[in-house]
Amino acid sequence: MGVTNHKRITATSTTLAAAVAACALVSGAASASALDLGSSTAAGPTKTVVIGLDGTMLDFVKSADAPRLHQLIAEGVSGQSSIAGHPTISGPSWSTILTGVWNDKHGVQDNSFNGANYDEYPTAFTRIEAANPALGTQSISTWNGIATIAGSGTPTADVVTTTAGAGGLAATDTATATAVADQIVSAGPDFIFTQLDQVDGAGHSGGTTAAAYAESIARVDAEVGRIVDAVDKRAKDSGESWTILVTSDHGHKPSGGHGGQSVAETTTFVIARGAGYAGGTTDNSYTIADITPTVLDNLGIALPENLDGVPLAKTAPTQPSGFPSFGS
Ligand SMILES: [Zn+2]
Repeated sequence: MGVTNHKRITATSTTLAAAVAACALVSGAASASALDLGSSTAAGPTKTVVIGLDGTMLDFVKSADAPRLHQLIAEGVSGQSSIAGHPTISGPSWSTILTGVWNDKHGVQDNSFNGANYDEYPTAFTRIEAANPALGTQSISTWNGIATIAGSGTPTADVVTTTAGAGGLAATDTATATAVADQIVSAGPDFIFTQLDQVDGAGHSGGTTAAAYAESIARVDAEVGRIVDAVDKRAKDSGESWTILVTSDHGHKPSGGHGGQSVAETTTFVIARGAGYAGGTTDNSYTIADITPTVLDNLGIALPENLDGVPLAKTAPTQPSGFPSFGS
């Protein structure tokens, strides 16, 4: 059934992405003195913030009043892909995002987290802390399931917080994003993950065709902007290199709800903004399994062989005319 299909899609996109990544590596080495492509080896470590927008669909982001997300799309690479064959449920999908492997490896099939195999496939937090305990890692989220993931394994993230309910998902998301922005500016963690929940709530309440779904995207867009502003301030003040990744765990049926295998439920996306990601370009080979490998690669941590994802391919900037073209 779907699982076989899913694996085929994954293998294809991985091969494709690996080929592109290999090409980027060659070009980076060939032109390291002339160009800074933002690779972790050439430019030192890059810090990453991953902004998870639960239940958010890229098509609706594009049509919503969402200037900050539109700006990230314009400044970075965006990709839309399907997780068909994988459960369209938060527990399994955020586990994939935070481990770099699909559910057949991390073992999470639903929000009970029964069968979780984080010992064999640890989270990015565990892998970073194991590689270098001095690195800063934080998880600050609205949905408490994220704390189950981020708090798994040994060692865990330095900070694992579920925001106290503030009287509704929108208000709680504001508190979450405010805390994330504060930590980025004051502590500058090497990896910080956040999940905002109000768009999923709106999807469940009225479906994606209701005005409330687009309105929730407009509200969460302001929270994204709060975090982007913090990153830009931190980078400017400290000289640090930062990558911003925005992603989602699943879509929603037009009438609301998810968990099935329809096109609307299985759609996900990744937006990558930072050094080396060519502004306004698309790369639909990006999958949610590529996020953990990207975070690790940004910190110069060797990638384990058992990951399903690969670092998100960077597109080399357009070369001035007369610049030798890359061989591969
Ligand atoms: Zn949901």
